[in-house]
Amino acid sequence: MTAADDGVDAAGETREPMTEDTKFGHFAFAETSAALGDAGGYRDTGRVVQLRTEAADAFVAMQAAAQDVGVHLVPISGYRTVGYQDGLFGRAIDRYGTPEEAAVWVAPPGYSEHHTGLAIDIGDLDHPEADVEVSFEATPAFDWLKNNADRFGFELSFPDGNPQGVSYEPWHWRFIGELATP
Ligand SMILES: [Zn+2]
Repeated sequence: MTAADDGVDAAGETREPMTEDTKFGHFAFAETSAALGDAGGYRDTGRVVQLRTEAADAFVAMQAAAQDVGVHLVPISGYRTVGYQDGLFGRAIDRYGTPEEAAVWVAPPGYSEHHTGLAIDIGDLDHPEADVEVSFEATPAFDWLKNNADRFGFELSFPDGNPQGVSYEPWHWRFIGELATP
């Protein structure tokens, strides 16, 4: 879990200043200015999920490959502006009480990997109840992604026990192209 970073640890000793720009454990990301492409619509909402062109193309190819074996990947959320993230974070503060608590669940504006246009939240068409829930890990979609996403250049950003201390997000994948390894 992410905790408030006031530069002082539990023993009251001052730590080394962080060299990376982070907020409540989330790294800073700039809004991409690269061209965006469509990764598909989010269920029947009419909302189109967009990613940087190369990531959108890779997602569409991955979705088709999954479909071939009866697994149905749904794009939930891709590129987000800093302004959009600000709205999400504000609602999370309303719900969880403080920015520190909100940041356990939602990245602060300017600190979401979604700003890069390379991160995508993926769901299982047949399991809408598992959208952006840890229970997504029990779906056929996650099982397939675990074994195949690397072939399409995607990896999990926040696996269980990630060193960043961000809560486990089995639905949130990032496109790293040919760097992805099994
Ligand atoms: Zn996400």
